[in-house]
Amino acid sequence: MAVRKTPLRTCVACRRETGKREFVRFVRDADGEVHVDRSGKAPGRGASVCPDVVCFEAAIGKRRLGPALRSSLSEDDVERLRREFEDAIASSEAASSRSGR
Ligand SMILES: [Zn+2]
Repeated sequence: MAVRKTPLRTCVACRRETGKREFVRFVRDADGEVHVDRSGKAPGRGASVCPDVVCFEAAIGKRRLGPALRSSLSEDDVERLRREFEDAIASSEAASSRSGR
């Protein structure tokens, strides 16, 4: 069996490197809309952020998320992404606490 290499991703806010499954991924789709990529497999330009609101806020506040995605994010986009991000964190925490038992 071949050893599978885990690709490392870097958080756009704190520059922490880890395997991509640890991160919440944002992706810009073909229409230029930015979404949280819950599958981790959506095509398009992506940016990874730690599953922590602190890093989300830093990525927005330091204006790193938009440039990483080659996209300009409006305040409405930021509000929508914050909700999607919080949902993604909440559901991954729920999933890991279930499997951790
Ligand atoms: Zn981070």
